[in-house]
Amino acid sequence: MSTDLGLRAATAFRPSSTVGELSTVLRDAILSGELPQGTQLRETAVATQFGVGRSVLREALRELVAEGLVTHKVNHGIFVTVIPPGEIHDIYRAREVIEVGAVEMMNARPADEVDFGPLEEIVAQMQQIALGRTHLDDDQVRQAFRLDLRFHQIMVEMSGSTRINRLYRSLNAEMSMYFANVPTFKPEYLTQHEELLQALRHRDESSIAATRLHLHRPVDQLPHS
Ligand SMILES: [Zn+2]
Repeated sequence: MSTDLGLRAATAFRPSSTVGELSTVLRDAILSGELPQGTQLRETAVATQFGVGRSVLREALRELVAEGLVTHKVNHGIFVTVIPPGEIHDIYRAREVIEVGAVEMMNARPADEVDFGPLEEIVAQMQQIALGRTHLDDDQVRQAFRLDLRFHQIMVEMSGSTRINRLYRSLNAEMSMYFANVPTFKPEYLTQHEELLQALRHRDESSIAATRLHLHRPVDQLPHS
Protein backbone atom coordinates (compact mmCIF):
# COMPACT_ATOMS: atom_id res chain seq x y z
CA MET A 1 0.00 0.00 0.00
CA SER A 2 1.22 3.47 -0.86
CA THR A 3 2.19 5.73 2.02
CA ASP A 4 0.08 8.50 0.47
CA LEU A 5 -3.58 8.31 1.47
CA GLY A 6 -4.38 10.67 -1.39
CA LEU A 7 -6.35 13.03 0.81
CA ARG A 8 -6.96 16.40 -0.78
CA ALA A 9 -7.10 17.99 2.66
CA ALA A 10 -3.57 16.85 3.50
CA THR A 11 -2.03 19.20 0.94
CA ALA A 12 -3.30 22.19 2.89
CA PHE A 13 -2.22 20.72 6.18
CA ARG A 14 0.45 22.45 8.24
CA PRO A 15 3.04 20.42 10.09
CA SER A 16 2.91 20.82 13.86
CA SER A 17 -0.87 20.82 13.75
CA THR A 18 -2.88 20.03 16.83
CA VAL A 19 -4.87 16.92 17.72
CA GLY A 20 -8.14 18.81 17.08
CA GLU A 21 -7.04 19.96 13.61
CA LEU A 22 -5.92 16.47 12.59
CA SER A 23 -9.08 14.78 13.88
CA THR A 24 -11.23 17.35 12.03
CA VAL A 25 -9.48 16.66 8.70
CA LEU A 26 -9.74 12.88 9.15
CA ARG A 27 -13.38 13.10 10.33
CA ASP A 28 -14.38 15.18 7.28
CA ALA A 29 -12.59 12.75 4.95
CA ILE A 30 -14.42 9.78 6.52
CA LEU A 31 -17.85 11.43 6.60
CA SER A 32 -17.59 12.58 2.98
CA GLY A 33 -16.53 9.11 1.82
CA GLU A 34 -13.14 10.41 0.65
CA LEU A 35 -11.65 7.83 3.01
CA PRO A 36 -13.95 4.88 2.23
CA GLN A 37 -15.21 2.38 4.79
CA GLY A 38 -12.69 -0.39 5.46
CA THR A 39 -9.63 1.75 4.60
CA GLN A 40 -6.69 0.93 6.84
CA LEU A 41 -5.13 3.95 8.53
CA ARG A 42 -1.48 2.99 8.92
CA GLU A 43 0.16 5.09 11.61
CA THR A 44 3.38 5.69 9.71
CA ALA A 45 1.61 6.67 6.49
CA VAL A 46 -0.79 9.08 8.18
CA ALA A 47 1.91 10.60 10.41
CA THR A 48 4.19 11.13 7.38
CA GLN A 49 1.48 12.57 5.19
CA PHE A 50 0.26 15.04 7.79
CA GLY A 51 3.71 15.76 9.21
CA VAL A 52 2.59 15.07 12.76
CA GLY A 53 4.17 13.09 15.56
CA ARG A 54 2.91 9.70 16.70
CA SER A 55 1.45 11.07 19.93
CA VAL A 56 -0.69 13.67 18.12
CA LEU A 57 -1.82 11.02 15.65
CA ARG A 58 -2.72 8.49 18.35
CA GLU A 59 -4.72 11.07 20.30
CA ALA A 60 -6.65 12.11 17.14
CA LEU A 61 -7.37 8.46 16.33
CA ARG A 62 -8.55 7.86 19.89
CA GLU A 63 -11.16 10.61 19.39
CA LEU A 64 -12.37 9.00 16.17
CA VAL A 65 -12.54 5.54 17.78
CA ALA A 66 -14.72 7.04 20.55
CA GLU A 67 -17.02 8.50 17.90
CA GLY A 68 -17.28 5.13 16.14
CA LEU A 69 -15.80 6.45 12.90
CA VAL A 70 -12.73 4.23 13.05
CA THR A 71 -12.31 0.80 14.61
CA HIS A 72 -9.26 -0.60 16.33
CA LYS A 73 -8.83 -4.29 15.51
CA VAL A 74 -6.39 -5.88 17.91
CA ASN A 75 -3.25 -7.15 16.08
CA HIS A 76 -4.54 -5.76 12.76
CA GLY A 77 -4.56 -1.99 13.15
CA ILE A 78 -6.94 0.91 12.71
CA PHE A 79 -9.60 0.89 9.98
CA VAL A 80 -12.38 3.22 8.87
CA THR A 81 -15.49 1.60 10.38
CA VAL A 82 -17.57 -0.53 8.02
CA ILE A 83 -21.35 -0.20 8.35
CA PRO A 84 -22.95 -3.31 6.78
CA PRO A 85 -26.11 -2.52 4.73
CA GLY A 86 -28.44 -4.29 7.24
CA GLU A 87 -27.23 -2.01 10.05
CA ILE A 88 -29.04 0.98 8.60
CA HIS A 89 -32.34 -0.39 9.90
CA ASP A 90 -30.87 -0.52 13.39
CA ILE A 91 -29.59 3.04 12.99
CA TYR A 92 -33.11 4.18 12.04
CA ARG A 93 -34.63 2.34 15.03
CA ALA A 94 -32.16 4.10 17.33
CA ARG A 95 -32.91 7.41 15.61
CA GLU A 96 -36.61 6.92 16.25
CA VAL A 97 -36.09 6.28 19.97
CA ILE A 98 -33.87 9.35 20.34
CA GLU A 99 -35.79 11.71 18.05
CA VAL A 100 -39.21 10.86 19.50
CA GLY A 101 -37.79 11.27 23.03
CA ALA A 102 -36.23 14.60 22.04
CA VAL A 103 -39.54 15.86 20.60
CA GLU A 104 -41.35 14.87 23.82
CA MET A 105 -38.79 16.86 25.80
CA MET A 106 -39.09 19.78 23.39
CA ASN A 107 -42.88 19.75 23.81
CA ALA A 108 -42.51 19.85 27.60
CA ARG A 109 -40.35 23.00 27.49
CA PRO A 110 -41.84 26.48 27.92
CA ALA A 111 -42.80 27.91 24.51
CA ASP A 112 -40.40 30.87 24.81
CA GLU A 113 -37.43 28.50 25.12
CA VAL A 114 -38.20 26.75 21.82
CA ASP A 115 -37.02 28.59 18.71
CA PHE A 116 -38.10 27.15 15.37
CA GLY A 117 -36.07 29.76 13.44
CA PRO A 118 -33.05 27.53 12.62
CA LEU A 119 -35.35 24.73 11.36
CA GLU A 120 -37.26 27.25 9.20
CA GLU A 121 -33.98 28.36 7.62
CA ILE A 122 -33.04 24.78 6.75
CA VAL A 123 -36.49 24.07 5.30
CA ALA A 124 -36.11 27.18 3.11
CA GLN A 125 -32.74 25.93 1.81
CA MET A 126 -34.22 22.47 1.21
CA GLN A 127 -37.04 23.96 -0.84
CA GLN A 128 -34.56 25.84 -2.99
CA ILE A 129 -32.91 22.56 -3.92
CA ALA A 130 -36.11 20.53 -4.36
CA LEU A 131 -38.31 23.11 -6.05
CA GLY A 132 -39.53 21.94 -9.46
CA ARG A 133 -37.06 19.04 -9.59
CA THR A 134 -37.82 15.34 -9.97
CA HIS A 135 -34.15 14.33 -9.83
CA LEU A 136 -31.11 15.65 -7.94
CA ASP A 137 -27.58 15.63 -9.34
CA ASP A 138 -24.62 14.40 -7.22
CA ASP A 139 -23.86 17.84 -5.83
CA GLN A 140 -27.48 18.46 -4.88
CA VAL A 141 -27.67 15.01 -3.26
CA ARG A 142 -24.66 15.87 -1.09
CA GLN A 143 -26.21 19.20 -0.08
CA ALA A 144 -29.56 17.49 0.56
CA PHE A 145 -27.98 14.94 2.94
CA ARG A 146 -26.13 17.65 4.81
CA LEU A 147 -29.31 19.68 5.27
CA ASP A 148 -31.32 16.59 6.27
CA LEU A 149 -28.79 15.58 8.94
CA ARG A 150 -28.55 19.17 10.15
CA PHE A 151 -32.35 19.45 10.45
CA HIS A 152 -32.54 16.38 12.67
CA GLN A 153 -29.50 17.36 14.75
CA ILE A 154 -31.08 20.76 15.49
CA MET A 155 -34.41 19.08 16.27
CA VAL A 156 -32.64 16.90 18.85
CA GLU A 157 -30.72 19.93 20.23
CA MET A 158 -34.11 21.55 20.86
CA SER A 159 -34.73 18.92 23.57
CA GLY A 160 -32.31 20.97 25.68
CA SER A 161 -30.37 17.84 26.71
CA THR A 162 -26.62 17.87 26.07
CA ARG A 163 -26.40 14.09 26.64
CA ILE A 164 -29.13 13.15 24.18
CA ASN A 165 -27.51 15.54 21.75
CA ARG A 166 -24.14 13.83 22.18
CA LEU A 167 -25.66 10.37 21.67
CA TYR A 168 -27.42 11.56 18.56
CA ARG A 169 -24.25 13.04 17.09
CA SER A 170 -22.64 9.61 16.82
CA LEU A 171 -25.75 8.20 15.08
CA ASN A 172 -25.63 11.17 12.75
CA ALA A 173 -21.99 10.34 11.94
CA GLU A 174 -22.96 6.75 11.10
CA MET A 175 -25.75 8.06 8.86
CA SER A 176 -23.24 10.26 6.99
CA MET A 177 -20.87 7.33 6.51
CA TYR A 178 -23.63 5.03 5.32
CA PHE A 179 -25.11 7.51 2.87
CA ALA A 180 -21.69 8.48 1.46
CA ASN A 181 -21.93 5.05 -0.21
CA VAL A 182 -25.61 5.22 -1.15
CA PRO A 183 -25.84 8.32 -3.31
CA THR A 184 -29.60 8.61 -3.81
CA PHE A 185 -31.92 11.23 -2.38
CA LYS A 186 -35.32 12.05 -3.79
CA PRO A 187 -36.51 15.68 -3.88
CA GLU A 188 -39.68 14.67 -1.98
CA TYR A 189 -37.56 13.65 1.05
CA LEU A 190 -36.61 17.33 1.30
CA THR A 191 -40.14 18.68 0.95
CA GLN A 192 -41.38 16.30 3.68
CA HIS A 193 -39.44 18.40 6.21
CA GLU A 194 -41.89 21.26 5.83
CA GLU A 195 -44.75 18.94 6.92
CA LEU A 196 -42.62 17.74 9.82
CA LEU A 197 -41.83 21.31 10.90
CA GLN A 198 -45.56 22.24 10.79
CA ALA A 199 -46.36 19.24 13.02
CA LEU A 200 -43.53 20.11 15.46
CA ARG A 201 -45.07 23.54 15.94
CA HIS A 202 -48.22 21.92 17.36
CA ARG A 203 -46.17 20.62 20.30
CA ASP A 204 -48.63 17.76 20.91
CA GLU A 205 -49.17 14.09 19.94
CA SER A 206 -49.26 15.01 16.23
CA SER A 207 -45.60 16.08 16.44
CA ILE A 208 -44.66 12.60 17.73
CA ALA A 209 -46.67 10.85 15.01
CA ALA A 210 -45.11 13.04 12.32
CA THR A 211 -41.59 12.28 13.59
CA ARG A 212 -42.25 8.52 13.46
CA LEU A 213 -43.81 8.76 10.01
CA HIS A 214 -40.87 10.81 8.71
CA LEU A 215 -38.38 8.17 9.86
CA HIS A 216 -40.42 5.24 8.54
CA ARG A 217 -40.72 6.56 5.02
CA PRO A 218 -37.06 6.33 3.99
CA VAL A 219 -36.53 3.01 5.83
CA ASP A 220 -39.21 1.39 3.68
CA GLN A 221 -37.11 2.27 0.65
CA LEU A 222 -33.69 1.24 1.93
CA PRO A 223 -31.97 -1.90 0.68
CA HIS A 224 -32.69 -4.98 2.82
CA SER A 225 -29.98 -7.46 3.61
ZN1 LIG B 1 -35.30 14.03 7.47
